[in-house]
Amino acid sequence: MILRPFDPWKSELCTCPPKLSLNPYTGCPHGCLYCYASSYIPNFGVCRPKADLHKRLAREAIKVTPGSIVAMSNSSDPYPPKEEELRLSRGCLRILKYRKLSVQVVTKSHLVAQDARLLASMKACVAITITTLDDSISRRLEPGASLPKERILALTSLAEAGVPVSVRIDPIIPGINDQEIEGLVAAVCRAGARHITSSTYKARPGSLKRIISAFPKECAALERLFAGGHRVAGSSYLPFEIREGLMNKVREKAKLVGLTFSSCREGSVPVPGISCDGSHLLAGEKGL
Ligand code: SF4
Repeated sequence: MILRPFDPWKSELCTCPPKLSLNPYTGCPHGCLYCYASSYIPNFGVCRPKADLHKRLAREAIKVTPGSIVAMSNSSDPYPPKEEELRLSRGCLRILKYRKLSVQVVTKSHLVAQDARLLASMKACVAITITTLDDSISRRLEPGASLPKERILALTSLAEAGVPVSVRIDPIIPGINDQEIEGLVAAVCRAGARHITSSTYKARPGSLKRIISAFPKECAALERLFAGGHRVAGSSYLPFEIREGLMNKVREKAKLVGLTFSSCREGSVPVPGISCDGSHLLAGEKGL
């Protein structure tokens, strides 16, 4: 199946609205140290186009109720460098548009801006993940993804084309990017974002090891913090007060600049009309 129900580990902390998941590529070249998908997809760093993707999608999309939400992508980035040549995601968007399905693109790539006109012509919103404005942190944390300034420029292009855009400040990792919240919120607001989704880092053994070896100075503090947290569905959560403090800070800063806010898998009660994943922007809502 190309279109699968979105169901991140059946976590009771996931408050996403019902949606389908579509990954045009298997694997992802961005190499984010905190990536969850790399722990369950073999050979994850090698980006492979799905075979017969458009034919299979066209066949399956016929059976989906118009208006349903398709998230593209959750286990890979739909705009890896290969997309410039293969245009698999662009082809998927055209099929989904034809079938009157709603699309939420989730990406860390500036290439999404190349589809701004197509996205503006259909029921679509985009969530761009931006975890830092500092190139050197970004290069260590998400070595293959577009640089922060490229993502901000893509955000501006999409917003100017009329595509509703949210930003995921996700994950926030104490000692690495938690001091950037104010600057990040202000920058994405200026660039045209309408909503912010945020989340703290949920450690898995492999990802924590990668982060610790890339950020050795932060190592001891991170290990201490996660030792004081608790486990949920195979991940270690930071202590509640730290997660609550960080989410409150993003919420306050977002409110100050007039953006809506939600958190992802933090146990917060969703605000009516505001989805945790930013997909409420599909309805053209400005939020609360
Ligand atoms: S962009 Fe997403 S799927 Fe790709 S490596 Fe980063 S976290 Fe993993």
